[in-house]
Amino acid sequence: NRYITIKTQVDGDPKVSDFELKTSNLPLSLDPGSNDIIVKNLYVSIDPYQINRMKSQSSSQKATATAGVITPGEGIDAYGVAKVVASGNPEFEKDDLIVGYITWGEYSFLKGGNCVLRKFTPMGLPLSYQVGILGLSGLTAYAGFFEVCKPKKGEKVFVSAACGSVGNLVGQYAKLFGCYVVGCAGSKEKVALLKEKLGFDDAFNYKEEPDLKSALQRYFPDGIDIYFDNVGAEMLEAAVANMNTFGRVVACGVISEYTDATKRAAPSMIDVVYKRIKIQGFLVVDFMNVFSDFLSTTTDHLRTGKLHALEDISNGLESLPSAFIGLFRGHNTGKKMVKVADE
Ligand code: NDP
Repeated sequence: NRYITIKTQVDGDPKVSDFELKTSNLPLSLDPGSNDIIVKNLYVSIDPYQINRMKSQSSSQKATATAGVITPGEGIDAYGVAKVVASGNPEFEKDDLIVGYITWGEYSFLKGGNCVLRKFTPMGLPLSYQVGILGLSGLTAYAGFFEVCKPKKGEKVFVSAACGSVGNLVGQYAKLFGCYVVGCAGSKEKVALLKEKLGFDDAFNYKEEPDLKSALQRYFPDGIDIYFDNVGAEMLEAAVANMNTFGRVVACGVISEYTDATKRAAPSMIDVVYKRIKIQGFLVVDFMNVFSDFLSTTTDHLRTGKLHALEDISNGLESLPSAFIGLFRGHNTGKKMVKVADE
């Protein structure tokens, strides 16, 4: 089995040379009482939070406490879609399609099968949808927007990293719900896509704005009711300065701070107090209780064409490091994943 691992803990900006390809042996047979399963990996999800697990523990204690540290040389667990090739677990049979925590490799040996696995049937939809729009990225957008933001129709919503996996869906759900939505992204192609294909009311390239506070004032002359924050740092500061009274900021992630320890948001707390702004962080794992609602709503919207699945798929195990690094350089448009093998 070939797999990708880190050579040493990664602090700062990740580089392809931080990663290496290794091989390991898989068990030749599984004991029927073991509950273990072996799967062939098909699609591996590429997620920014993994960088926090690759850091030395002292630099990212909260993140490693939640998701566990990634040890150099060892397999990297990640969400994805796979096919069962051998099973010692009565719940899974050979050829079952599963979604859950697999690894950055060709195959995954899943001890005890206890890795949040779910069998699924594609029901005419691409397998990749299970990784993104119908997977944890989709749930993050759905739960973060509906459960944490608690939106009202007509509210004005700002989304950062809006052409990314979570951001594009937050904007699409917010539009379907009846909000006014503006997104920001890092290129003119992404801005055009948000406005022309995904139905955002407006969008802008944050890299072309010398002053983010005044840019947001232009896009939201009547203020922001909900800010869905994927990036942190100066964007969060600018959004807080433009929030309306009783506005809500949802801290989904702070990608601009993950690889740069010198960047830390310092929003105006006087604004927070006097405008009674609520800032709330959340983790998608807190919302597994809404997974079935999310899945049926999102599947319906996909079938009726109300939601668009924005995907960015690289091919082959070897592309995993560059796919991952690309997240921090804005290379992806939509849900980033790597197709490791055909079904
Ligand atoms: P994306 O698909 O959005 O990919 C990352 C994008 O972030 C890039 O394409 C880039 O787009 C943008 N970006 C990268 N660096 C910077 C920077 N320095 N400043 C501004 N933008 C930057 O990733 P996801 O949708 O998977 O994740 C989005 C956020 O949500 C992340 O912070 C992630 O950690 C968080 N998250 C949180 C979860 C939770 O449970 N709370 C679950 C899943 C994700 P651009 O071209 O616009 O710069």
